[in-house]
Amino acid sequence: MKKILLHACCGPCTTAPLPALRAEGIEPVAFFHNPNIHPFREFRRRLNAFVDFAARGKMAIEIDREYGLVEYLRKVVGREGKRCRLCYEMRLTATAVRAKELGLDTISTTLLYSRYQKHELIRRAGEEIAAAHGLCFLYRDWRELWQEGIERAITMNLYRQPYCGCIYSEQERYDKKLRRRLAAERRQSAATTEAPAAENAARI
Ligand code: SF4
Repeated sequence: MKKILLHACCGPCTTAPLPALRAEGIEPVAFFHNPNIHPFREFRRRLNAFVDFAARGKMAIEIDREYGLVEYLRKVVGREGKRCRLCYEMRLTATAVRAKELGLDTISTTLLYSRYQKHELIRRAGEEIAAAHGLCFLYRDWRELWQEGIERAITMNLYRQPYCGCIYSEQERYDKKLRRRLAAERRQSAATTEAPAAENAARI
């Protein structure tokens, strides 16, 4: 059986991948490492929701409790146009390093569950980072479980965040003027591949 460290972006996005993996006979260890979640109280709220879900789901976890605002900004400032790719790489690299420390041979991520993330970018980053660390990347397209996961999170009364995570995505969620400008830019350049992960209008 594969020994998987499953990067978990939050509790709600883990509610569907966990039973899907268990149905395959895989019992993952879930790893919360998300320097992209801001501000601090939001980070703490999502972390608490993740711990709550893990306890109720009897899921083994590893947690990085450090608030990673500075780490995230050092990576992204001046490269905002590529921020989601950098963000995925940051989190998946930390997952690969922790998997090696734990003696696990495979990594994956609950980001593959989200309809609002850049799925192919995540897949590519995961495969490259896993290979660079001598690990396997378990790819699954969990987006088809989107509604099921939402319903489970609601039933469990888990905190469901209204924006992706970073301070940029928070502005994109609430600043109507910015949203209009981004929508116009998107219409002009529909083929842009490195635009931010959705504008995260929907609650996850
Ligand atoms: S929008 Fe989401 S995926 Fe993109 S950089 Fe911000 S937190 Fe990361």
